[in-house]
Amino acid sequence: MKHLKDYSCTLCGKAYAAPVDFYTCPSCGEKGILDVNHDLSALRGELTRASFARSDEQSLWRYAPLLPVKPTHMQDTLRVGWTPLYASKRLKDRLGMKELHIKDEGVNPTGSLKDRASVVAVLKAIEAGNTTIACSSTGNAASSLAGNAARLGLQAVIFVPARAPKGKLSQLVAFGARVIRVEGDYKAAYNASKAAIDHFGWYNRNAAINPHMVEGKKTVAFEIAEQLDFRLPDWVVVSVGDGCTIAGLHKGFQELAEVGLTTSVPRLLGVQSVGCAPFYEAARTGRDLEETDEDTIADSIAVGIPRNPVKGLRAVRATRGAWVTVTDEAIIRSVRTMGETEGVFGEPAAAASLAGLEKALQENIIAKDEHVVVVSTGNGLKDTSSMQESLGRLKSFKGDLEEIIEYFENDRQTGGKQ
Ligand SMILES: *Cc1c(COP(=O)(O)O)cnc(C)c1O
Ligand SMILES: [Zn+2]
Repeated sequence: MKHLKDYSCTLCGKAYAAPVDFYTCPSCGEKGILDVNHDLSALRGELTRASFARSDEQSLWRYAPLLPVKPTHMQDTLRVGWTPLYASKRLKDRLGMKELHIKDEGVNPTGSLKDRASVVAVLKAIEAGNTTIACSSTGNAASSLAGNAARLGLQAVIFVPARAPKGKLSQLVAFGARVIRVEGDYKAAYNASKAAIDHFGWYNRNAAINPHMVEGKKTVAFEIAEQLDFRLPDWVVVSVGDGCTIAGLHKGFQELAEVGLTTSVPRLLGVQSVGCAPFYEAARTGRDLEETDEDTIADSIAVGIPRNPVKGLRAVRATRGAWVTVTDEAIIRSVRTMGETEGVFGEPAAAASLAGLEKALQENIIAKDEHVVVVSTGNGLKDTSSMQESLGRLKSFKGDLEEIIEYFENDRQTGGKQ
């Protein structure tokens, strides 16, 4: 916090000294999304590889000097971050790759990477003197905000689209959130939340406009770097909805370089679903982002109007990255591939990252001898119904041994697949 310098507008470039009491640029309005700027030169020499190695903090707060949050309540939050980075063996071999890691964000307290943003949001809400905090969400930002708010004693008000999966809705109920389930899609939920937040003056966690959400999410880049002993991968692959996560990865790696801990920035592969690919289309055509349908099984990346287009597009452009789209069939296949090769169960939007890697290998965007980190952004237990249907029907048994023996004998002939 003491190194927080100012906020600058991604449109007009104007800078505002910290702290500020607005979310977006006062001259540009809602589209004037802000960047948070830290005095990184002051941290050169103070933040070193050795200082990180000495830290025994097993959460994202190990990066507190690089976060725009007062330390007052850090010890009171859920334990967010410091998730495992697995060196892949079987999946790497299956893809014919040299080096592959999987960052499992599904083990965060509410089961997704969104916890990194939500835990920052609740502390900023307390700093701002708010007792109620609100957001609209396709599901994970909602359940994550609800859990993190409950832990700090704040009331969460959540706007979700009609299609939000049951697992995520159950979390909202368990965490005591006020749920406004809006008929229609995510766009409808977003608009409803905006009107209500303006009216009631609640703290606004909407990732698109609250610049602190990228700050929380950038810690995933810090962890990837540190867990690899600062030997950065060539590529980091992540699925993209609003664009806040990929923007966080970019900012995190950029800041590590500016602090002098690393000398390069990995290329970022942004993965979207064929049924909802506004970023991919904008990058392909060179035109502004256009509203699209939200037609995909990967509900967490079904964002028809990303409200944060500047940062998401910039992340891929600045890192000489790329965009790919993947089909729902490929996503479902990837859930199973990641599960059976590595024991990591991702929700569809999480496995979409792996589907994107496979596509990028096929299209020679990524070479097999490059080192890749795939971010599995959320836990598969959040949305089991769509998975059960898609992953194949399970056979039913009466329970006698004969039948089970027969099953395994058949199984040998069919190569172990049901
Ligand atoms: C939110 C989310 C994403 C995408 O993050 P954005 O910041 O919206 O681009 C990907 N996967 C999961 C599981 C998510 O919850
Ligand atoms: Zn501006």
